[in-house]
This record gives sequence, structure tokens and C-alpha cells, in this order.
Amino acid sequence: MALTFSEVEASVLAVAGEDEPRAVTILGSTGSIGCNTVDLLAREPGRWRVEALTGNRNVSLLAEQARLLKPRFVAIADESCFAALREALEGTGIEVAAGRAAVIEAACRPADWVMAAIVGAAGLEPTLAAARRGAVVALANKECLVCAGELMMAEMNAHGATLLPVDSEHSAIFQVFDFSQAEKVERIVLTASGGPFRQSSLTEMARMTPSQAVAHPNWEMGAKISIDSATMMNKGLELIEAHHIFAVPEEKIDILVHPQSVIHSMVSYVDGSVLAQLGTPDMRTPIAYALGWPQRMTAPSPRLDLAAIASLTFEQPDPERFPALRLARQALRAGGAVPTLLNAANEVAVQSFLAGEIGFLDIARTVEETLSAVANTSLTSIEDVLDRDRAGREAAVRIVAGLSGR
Ligand code: NAD
Ligand code: MG
Repeated sequence: MALTFSEVEASVLAVAGEDEPRAVTILGSTGSIGCNTVDLLAREPGRWRVEALTGNRNVSLLAEQARLLKPRFVAIADESCFAALREALEGTGIEVAAGRAAVIEAACRPADWVMAAIVGAAGLEPTLAAARRGAVVALANKECLVCAGELMMAEMNAHGATLLPVDSEHSAIFQVFDFSQAEKVERIVLTASGGPFRQSSLTEMARMTPSQAVAHPNWEMGAKISIDSATMMNKGLELIEAHHIFAVPEEKIDILVHPQSVIHSMVSYVDGSVLAQLGTPDMRTPIAYALGWPQRMTAPSPRLDLAAIASLTFEQPDPERFPALRLARQALRAGGAVPTLLNAANEVAVQSFLAGEIGFLDIARTVEETLSAVANTSLTSIEDVLDRDRAGREAAVRIVAGLSGR
């Protein structure tokens, strides 16, 4: 039997009351979410004991973070970076390791709280490892719920893990969702900034370059999620993420464009009440919510000045210019391996766009063609997920080759 949120809250508070620093790990500490998490930890050093940090290739940043936070263990995914990292941390007493297994080991080490901030399906196994030892998992890595949502939620439940959403929309929903009467929730409204091409025509979008696409109007984020915001696949992935976290069916989740990114999402109830969470677009607010949970902790995010903003506006997303929204809804409705294939194809397509191999509109095209090319199957294990992730990537690579050869 899984613990309820209030039982977990009570046990977390009991630990917090012992004046022991809370043991924390950051998977993907060198990324945008990782750096924001490091920033929060460094502001209250006595409050945390850092167990592990991980990165992919950025040796100098990972070493700098390790010198600052003094973790027991540091893992770098790219094995060719091992020697440089070991040298950079020589004499510190910090254990250093490299490779995919080392990143999973970081997740297995004893930390009460694990930030899952690796980008893409690469985060699946490490996040799962943290879930399987019943940790509190602060989840930024939405792709792992998209490609393995049912299995991940089942593993979390089976091992008494606690999922705290970090994605700003899901953190907002989590803060206003009445878990004690979930059946009284009528709809969830995910807000979306609309990204940098909200007002661009299809002809203009076809010509957009990677640097134009990563320039998000409101948020500073890693390259992959910035491109996902420009295609609005990010909102499609978030739809699937919300479905798994809050157990709300696809047809009860709306997507609403709100260019100011002040209302981070909303929940509407059977009595007509709509509850929202607001704030400036600074990820340190939702990260602090997950880090301090079940209590609130101070975050340095700029404060909201509604009089200065003056007006909040809303519009429907345009399904013609943003076909990724339709593809994500279709994938969620189809279930099985389709969301896994959607995610895999999208990762390949975004990388190919960033590498200048395909055009901006080819991203959604690649995803759509991958979904037509690969048959749906059911997923009964993580091995099935990894297998379908590979199949989706292989199909997408072939489709990209066709598109880039035009
Ligand atoms: P990022 O690209 O800035 O950082 C990604 C991190 O993952 C880095 O530490 C990188 O070293 C690591 N990494 C990349 N490939 C890896 C691999 N193969 N093995 C191990 N580690 C690897 O990305 P980000 O913007 O910080 O986003 C991280 C996750 O959080 C994504 O899933 C994203 O969708 C989600 N998210 C981000 C934001 C944001 O504001 N940046 C907001 C909401 C959700
Ligand atoms: Mg988000």
C-alpha cells in the first residue's frame, strides 16, 4: 500500500525536526534546472548534505559545483571525461565515477530527496532507480513520464516513493489540487506561453533557425525544452505528464495560451471554483516548493508585480501551426508504446533541427511519420520501454535522413 501524502509529510517533518541536514542528490546538476537547484542549496548550506551530483560532459562546471557543495559522489555520464574530472577533484576526497552505470549508482545512493533533472529518456533509468528505493523524487525530467508513465507511477507506488513535480505547470497544479477529493476536480488547465513563434505564420516558421527557436520570450531553459516550447511539443509532453501525475483523463486537460507566464496552471472544481498558482517565471520557485516540501522555503525569485504587468491575456492554441499538440493527444489516447515513440522521435528530430539537418516544421513531421511507421505494442516492463525507445529513434533517424536529403 502506498503512503498518502499526509503520511509522507508527517515522516518528512519528523526527519526535518531532528536538525539533521537533509541528504540530497541532483541528477543533471549541470543543466538549467540543475544549476537553479545548486543555487538554492548553496544559499542555505547547513540545511543539506549533498550525496551525489551528476553531469553528462561539462567537467569544469561539475567540478566547480562539487567543490562548492562537497558531495560524497560525483558521476559523469560520458566516460571520456573521467580522467579530467578525477584530476579536477583530486585531493577533495570526493569519489568520482563515469558512465551510464555510474549515473544510476548516484541515484541509488542514500539521499532522502533526489532532483531528477536529466533531459530526455536518458533520465529514465536513474529516475527509476531513485523511485525504487522509495526516495522523494523532485521530477523535472518529464520525458521519463512520457515514455514510461504507467510503469514509473506503479514503481513509485510499489516502493513508497513520493513524486513532487518540478515542471512549473505541474507544481502549480500540485499546489492547488485537492487530493482528498480528487473526484471533485472537473478539469485541469495547463497554461502555455505559446513560445517564440506564437504570432509567426507557417511560412515564417518554416524558415526559423535554431538560434531563433531557442530564444524563449519568458523562460531561460536548456536547448531541448526551448525547442519543445517553440513547437509546443513541450505542452504536449506536459499533457501526458499531467495525466500520469494527477490521474486525470486526456479529455479533461485543457491547454490555454497565456503569453505572460504568470498563471502557471489551474484546476477547476465541480462547484465552478478555479484555483490557480501565480508567480514570476523563475524555476527556483517550483524547485524551492519541492525542496522545502512539505514546508515552504525562501526562494530569491523576483516578486510578482501585477500592477506593473497590468493585464493577463489568454488565447486558444492554433492546431494548424502547432500540430505537436494533436500528436501528443493522439499518443496519450492510443496508449501503449505510442507516447514512447512520440518522445523518442521528438528527441531525434529536435537534435537534427539543432544540428541544422532539418527545418523547424520537420520536427512535428518527423514525429508524425514515426508514429505511422512503427506499430503500437503494449509495454509490460522497462525493457519494453527501452526497446520501443530504440525503435522510435531508429525510425526517426531514417525519416530525418529522407527529409534532410531533399
Ligand atoms: P539541460 O539541457 O540544461 O540539462 C540537462 C542535464 O542532463 C545536464 O546536467 C546534462 O549534463 C544532463 N544530461 C544530458 N544528457 C545526459 C545523458 N545522456 N546522461 C546523463 N546526463 C545527461 O536541460 P534542462 O533545461 O535543465 O531540463 C532538464 C529537464 O527538466 C528536462 O526534462 C526538461 O524538460 C525539464 N524542465 C526544464 C525546465 C527549465 O526551465 N529548464 C522547466 C521544466 C521542466
Ligand atoms: Mg513546464
